[in-house]
Amino acid sequence: MSDIKNIIFRNQRLRSSEVLRSLTSETKLSKDYLIFPIFIKAGNNIKSEIKSMPDIYQLSIDNALKEISSAIDVGIKSFILFGIPDNKDEIGSSAFANDGIIQQALREIKKHFPDILLITDLCMCEYTSHGHCGVIKNKNLDNDATLKLLNKQALSLANNGADMIAPSGMIDGVVESLRYCLDHNGFKNLPILSYSAKYASSFYGPFREAAESEPEFGDRKKYQMHSANKKEAIKEVLHDISEGADIVMIKPALSYLDVINELKNKIHIPIAAYSVSGEYSMIKAASKMGWIDEKSAMNEILLSIKRAGADMIITYFAKDFAKNNK
Ligand SMILES: [Zn+2]
Repeated sequence: MSDIKNIIFRNQRLRSSEVLRSLTSETKLSKDYLIFPIFIKAGNNIKSEIKSMPDIYQLSIDNALKEISSAIDVGIKSFILFGIPDNKDEIGSSAFANDGIIQQALREIKKHFPDILLITDLCMCEYTSHGHCGVIKNKNLDNDATLKLLNKQALSLANNGADMIAPSGMIDGVVESLRYCLDHNGFKNLPILSYSAKYASSFYGPFREAAESEPEFGDRKKYQMHSANKKEAIKEVLHDISEGADIVMIKPALSYLDVINELKNKIHIPIAAYSVSGEYSMIKAASKMGWIDEKSAMNEILLSIKRAGADMIITYFAKDFAKNNK
């Protein structure tokens, strides 16, 4: 009857039902692979919404316990903690004080939820008065002097119960320096998740409001990566692996899927991707305007990061995703 020739490839056959689509889906994303960031602020009964990040809050420890509890209820088991201290100084000394905000939080959270994984961000920028990621000399970051402070911070966090240390400042030699320090102080089995390739990105904007860590002068382009570079990211990652990193991270995620994908085929340790605040806030803002559907955009973006090759994803959507994908 028809003069159309026989079509050999009918790819739509395998898309014809929900079950078939699920059976043939190449990538599955589960809440098991998500890490939820928590911002912890000194004080009591604080729950202040971050204007540029709807539904994400700065929380005092008492309220952080409630937030973590509600995330556990929907199946989230891994968290990364960021601290907003009471006071900041030139060398960020509250980063390694036993009564520092994250040290206190670790003790409290572990007491209530001993089985969850607590990753602690390791950097000076949340604690220094100038907002840079380490010791500043003549308006420049002193890389090697910063390593000593980071070792102190790591030991302090480890002593207070951190399950994983995540150096985020792109300080050269940091993984080797931390590994040596941890190994010689009784923490041979404490893993290091290195922010190996952290790009100087405009997508960090909302986070800086969240963590109150905007630099007082200059920017972080001298120690974070140029967004044009991929080979350099591979080099950074390989260095970190050779220094003993257990997991490497690419940050941000969405604009750097090619980097994640290339690494997937090159390295044999887990890759984490940090889907950063700007990625989150763009979806939230567009959905508030009625321009996109928040839930499906969230699912699509997280899935794309997994499909590119990330083994785990740090995302502000962790709780929402878990709620919607039981
Ligand atoms: Zn930093």
